[in-house]
Parts: sequence; structure tokens; C-alpha cells
Amino acid sequence: MDHETDSVRIFFFPFVGGGHQIPMIDTARVFAKHGAISTILTTPSNALQFKNSITRDQKSNLPITIHTLTEITDTDTDMSAGPMIDTSVLLEPLKQFLLQHKPDCIVVDMFHRWAGDIIDDLKIPRIVFTGNGCFPRCVIENTRKHVVFDNLSSDYEPFLVPGLPDRIEMTKSQVPIFMRNTSQIPDRIKQLDEKSFGTVINSFYDFEPAYADYTRNVLGIKAWLVGPVSLCNRSVEDKKERGKQPTMDEQSCLNWLNSKKPNSVLYVSFGSLARLHTKQIKEIAYGLEASDQSFIWVVGKILNSTDKEETCGENWVLDEFEKRMKELDKGLIFRGWAPQLLILEHDAVGGFMTHCGWNSTLEGVCVGVPMITWPLSAEQFINEKLVTDVLKIGVQVGSKEWGTWDRERKELVGREKVEFAVKKLMRKSEETEEMRRRVKQIAENAKSAVEEGGTSYADIDAFIQELKACRFTSQV
Ligand code: UDP
Repeated sequence: MDHETDSVRIFFFPFVGGGHQIPMIDTARVFAKHGAISTILTTPSNALQFKNSITRDQKSNLPITIHTLTEITDTDTDMSAGPMIDTSVLLEPLKQFLLQHKPDCIVVDMFHRWAGDIIDDLKIPRIVFTGNGCFPRCVIENTRKHVVFDNLSSDYEPFLVPGLPDRIEMTKSQVPIFMRNTSQIPDRIKQLDEKSFGTVINSFYDFEPAYADYTRNVLGIKAWLVGPVSLCNRSVEDKKERGKQPTMDEQSCLNWLNSKKPNSVLYVSFGSLARLHTKQIKEIAYGLEASDQSFIWVVGKILNSTDKEETCGENWVLDEFEKRMKELDKGLIFRGWAPQLLILEHDAVGGFMTHCGWNSTLEGVCVGVPMITWPLSAEQFINEKLVTDVLKIGVQVGSKEWGTWDRERKELVGREKVEFAVKKLMRKSEETEEMRRRVKQIAENAKSAVEEGGTSYADIDAFIQELKACRFTSQV
């Protein structure tokens, strides 16, 4: 195929680091597999995080490249300021690049709040990427529209999210701050969304059919469901280097898993961003130990009592615990980054204790592993409802209080709750066998969705065709 003349040219402008960057890179790779000439726009230090997989794609003749814009700060690889990091220093380099190379479309992360106007001025079709799925989108929209928080007697009084296909109940304590008070939704994010050409969603129709329909037909959002995009990672290299370099040699981890029985290990991770307090780390450690279950635990940055980050190495609770678990051959601890996809897909892994980030949730689903849900911030409490109440493929640890990712939370989830949830999920019972059966079926559906003939495969092609039609219309 002559890519220069026939293929559409799509730019992908992911956020810098974290859980938003990973799926957008995968999305760019998926579109390249469908013949779109994909260019990823990023900063030099962020490019290092995925350069190897793009080089491998290029060697397989996929039409994908990275274009680096200016650096933001020395710390941007760590995304230390989280989603609030101001990326507007990239405005001028982006504008110059767009003026020289006009694509058929640009997919922009919603956290680049400033990017809408300049792209619209250049009349380039703009697609917003929010990083989450249809279900959370519908819950957020209907809560914002219909729920009056002042009418609730307390932060813990359940309210019904009206108008949805299922009965979804939440409490104010679980709702992100920006949803409790609509004036707090940054205007720029709202605008970016409202004036866009549509959105690509990392999800698949069979995962949330009623909510995909609701998003399109009731919310009126032009949405293409193109996932699960993580399934584009087929080689061990791609799976192992996704995001960052693992802090433990992946082979030693796999060897350890090889020594364990099928479905006997719990994988515990709270995503790329969340910082837990030392006190919470202690409760998790004791809870895991009491459950007597083998585990792999990814411990990210830890907060001390003054909300300052501690390096894991200084954390005495963890040091002693890790030593003990090693001696008993009970658990492995990653202090930093783990090759999540490689671990999750191993036969020995039979459960996933997750913070319910959208990506982690989908990745758990894709390997057919039931979950213990432990939401912390963002829209994670909503994702928990999908996992436990709608799909019935997980048990709740009992986390009740939304908090920002980098502050000590009001609520401490005690060791008894951890132990209880782990035993409940990992010990064989009729209920858990049913969960396993359900999630395995969803995993099959996920694989079919991205294969030729599947719904996501068709949505990607439909999107490409629509861009071609736009190109034709703008020429006549
Ligand atoms: N991830 C990983 N190793 C880690 C921690 C996270 O590979 O040690 C990946 C994980 O596979 C997922 C992403 O980082 O793709 C986290 O995204 P998610 O939406 O689950 O949560 P967030 O980090 O945005 O809170």
C-alpha cells in the first residue's frame, strides 16, 4: 500500500507519563497495525519509555514514528505533579509541527487542557482521549446532571445514579471532588471535550454494551471503542518494557511464579501514581501475611506522616516483611515498577488486588483474573461498581473514602479487611468459581473484539474510513 497517498495520517499526543500515556501509545500502535500512519508527539524523556517497542514495530514495517517536542521539566518522566502538571510549554512546538505537517486527525489527551484552540484554529479534526471507559463516563455525566449533594444527609448516605441501565449506588465520599461541585471541573477540560470530533475509548463493546449504547445514543458522544489496546503487546519484550523498566529482573519473577501452583498467587498493585501511607502499607503487609496466600506486591512511593515521600528502602516495616516473606517463600515485592502484563498472564496468578484504574481493570479482565477492588482516587470508585456490581467479577476490600493520590487518606483499611478479602477471593467457593467463569468469558470476548471480525477491529476501520471521507469532503 502506498502509505503516502492512501493512508490516513494520525497524530497521537499522549499525556506525559503515567496511566494515560501507556494506553495511548498502545492505541497509536494499534492504528498503525490497521494501516494508519501514526506519529506519537511527546517529550524526549517520555519517548525513552516506549521507544524500544516503537523501534520493534518499525522493524515489522509498521508506519509508526515518534516526534519529540520540547522537554517540560527534569521530573516529567516521573509525572511528579500528576495530572495537574502544566504541559503548555509544548504549545508552540506543537503548533509549529502542525503547521508543517497537517495530519488527518489528532488524538489528544484531555489533560493537555490548552491544546484545543490551536488545533481547532488549524481545522484539524480533534479526538479526545480521556483514558477511561463508557461506564464511568455515563456515571459521571448522570451524577453531575441529576444528583444534588446538598440533599444528602451525610457523605455516606447512598444515592442512586439516575437513568442508567443498572441500579448504581454511590456515596458522596466515593465521588471525586470535581464531581461534587460542577464548578470545579476545569473549564478547559470541558471545552476540549465538547468541541471535539469525537472520542476513542479503550474498551470493547461486549464489556459494557449497555453503556456503550448509552454513551452514543443518550449522551450523544461520537465514540469509537478500540480496545483493549493492551492486547497489541504480543512479545515478551513489549509486555515487559511497557511504561518503565521493571525494578526486578523479570526472569526471576517468572521463575518464582513457575514454582507456584495455578491460580495460587495474588497480584497486588495500585497503579502508576498512588502513594500509600506507611500506616496503610503496614496494614496491607499484615493482612497479606495473615491470609497465608502467596503474592506479588508492587509497592510504589510511600508517604510518611508529613505527606513526604519516603524511598522504599528506608521503610522498616517493609524491609522486615520482605525478608520474612522471602524466607517463607510466600511473596515477592517490587519496589517501583513491575511488568504487569507479564505477571497477570501467568497461570499461577489467580487474583488481582487493584486500585481499579481503568487500564488495570481491563488488563485484569483480559487475562480472566477476578479482582479485589481497592479504589483510591480519580474515577476508581465508579470502576469498582462495574467490576463488583455489574460484571460480578470481584470482591470489595471495603475502601470508602475518595482521596487525592498524593495525600494521606482519612481512611485506613485495616489488616482484617485485607485478610478477609484475600481469603474470600482466593479460596475456592461456589461464588468465586462463578466469578472466575464469568471473567474468563469476558477475556475471550476481549480477544475476539480485537481480532478481524471483532467489534473493536471494525470500529478502528470505521474510524479510519470516516477520516478518509472527511479528507475527501474537505477537498471538494
Ligand atoms: N503499570 C505497570 N507496572 C506497574 C504499575 C503500573 O505496568 O508497576 C501499568 C499498568 O499495567 C497500567 C498502567 O500502568 O497499564 C496503570 O494505569 P491505571 O489506569 O490502571 O492506573 P493509574 O496509574 O492511571 O492510576
